[in-house]
Amino acid sequence: MKKILILLGPPGVGKGTVGEKLSEILRIPLISTGDLLREHIKKKTELGLKAKEYMENGYLVPDDIVVSVLVERIREDDCKNGFILDGFPRNINQAEILENFINKENVKVIYLTADDEFLVNRLSNRRICENCGAIYHLINIPPKVNGICDKCGGKLVQREDDKEDVVRNRLKVYHSVTSPLLDYYRNRRKFFVVPGDGKLEETISNILKIEEDA
Ligand code: AMP
Repeated sequence: MKKILILLGPPGVGKGTVGEKLSEILRIPLISTGDLLREHIKKKTELGLKAKEYMENGYLVPDDIVVSVLVERIREDDCKNGFILDGFPRNINQAEILENFINKENVKVIYLTADDEFLVNRLSNRRICENCGAIYHLINIPPKVNGICDKCGGKLVQREDDKEDVVRNRLKVYHSVTSPLLDYYRNRRKFFVVPGDGKLEETISNILKIEEDA
């Protein structure tokens, strides 16, 4: 059966890292709208140019732009057995649009939790590989060689929007616009709450248990 996992939770809670691991284990692709948008910015596409300023300041990119990027991706061949969503939907309107593209029976929503100060601390230590997008944390998941990606040797950089003032704005946006999705899905789909502030292995094993049981 086609598997669709939606990872919900505040910025920095680990949706990307958790999603990468789950993608390897479950063998379905991880789709991060943030990554797709960053790819457009890197390639300087028209869409990327429109999205850039919103992203660098921690605001949501307009729905029409994000939806077009997402729909293009989920139509690709590797999504036919399912996929994991990281960072989409981000508001109720996006959730409603998504309903048109997925079979509701296949969906599980995982809500990863952590408090704001933990997240500010985690994000300010986050580093991303410029080349392959792998995610590190200077304390919890450090690279073997400082500043260099273990996987591809690329340079590790800090995202513009991982700087503290932007992180605080992203959290504000999350609490006002994205968190209403929790009730939206709690009432409509298989919905699970998993702590995102523990060890990565524990988070993964909690989610895999949900996968097996539900
Ligand atoms: P992320 O990598 O998920 O933290 O996303 C980084 C930034 O990309 C966000 O702060 C938004 O500016 C933008 N973004 C990613 N996904 C969405 C979405 N579903 N809707 C609107 N903006 C998004």
